[in-house]
Amino acid sequence: MLRIRNLVSGYGKIKVLKNVSMHVDPGEIVTILGANGAGKTTLLSTIAGLVRANSGEAEFKSNNILKIKASAIPGLGCVMVPEGRQVFAAMTVEENLLLGGHAVQKQGRKVLTALLEHQYELFPILRDRKDQLAGTLSGGEQQMLAMGRALMSKPSLVMMDEPSTGLAPLIVKEIFQIIVRLRDEGNTVLLVEQNAKAALGIADRGYVLETGKIIVQGPAEDLLANKDVQRAYLGRE
Ligand code: ATP
Repeated sequence: MLRIRNLVSGYGKIKVLKNVSMHVDPGEIVTILGANGAGKTTLLSTIAGLVRANSGEAEFKSNNILKIKASAIPGLGCVMVPEGRQVFAAMTVEENLLLGGHAVQKQGRKVLTALLEHQYELFPILRDRKDQLAGTLSGGEQQMLAMGRALMSKPSLVMMDEPSTGLAPLIVKEIFQIIVRLRDEGNTVLLVEQNAKAALGIADRGYVLETGKIIVQGPAEDLLANKDVQRAYLGRE
């Protein structure tokens, strides 16, 4: 579904990603782990077209996405749930969700209503709060809204940037259970996380990014058993 080869990307003269190669197959949860500043957000932003690549290849469903402008990438089925959620604070929960469904609007009211209903089923708290202003939601609720809004476009690939940031452990558990449910329903997820233990607990495969390079990759259970990964990212001696 997504294949990245020798990607070099960054900001001006600063090269953050140095020859990154990775892929995501349909139906997988793939996680990118790494410390602060490793380049995880830069990787997602480059795929989303928000940061321009210097060189390399990025193919999403046979489209060369490095040549496509950021505003057209969600229309191909690749959406990003940004870190910090970025919901529209002055709009209600339902208005935020409907904005996410903008692209499917032309398929008719029925499709839109069914999608809205599906988000309320996935995130029952959003139904209870559908008329509440998004800015007044708790952090966990805003994360759910950001995910629901992204899912309203029926994406093939959902990229999530650190969904666990700043959330209490119980809420993190709930968010991660929802990600597993999304995968079980046939969705594909690229999950960027600093919370390596939780991310590897639900992922099929993972990559460890260190100063812009992939240093380890493999099935999640192999990464969990890897001594270097344990020492650096799982807090085990
Ligand atoms: P975190 O977990 O802290 O979000 P990250 O792995 O997502 O970290 P990035 O946000 O991709 O890391 O940042 C990688 C490097 O790129 C950092 O050194 C950062 O300072 C730099 N960087 C990020 N955004 C910009 C920008 N807009 N302009 C210049 N440098 C940037």
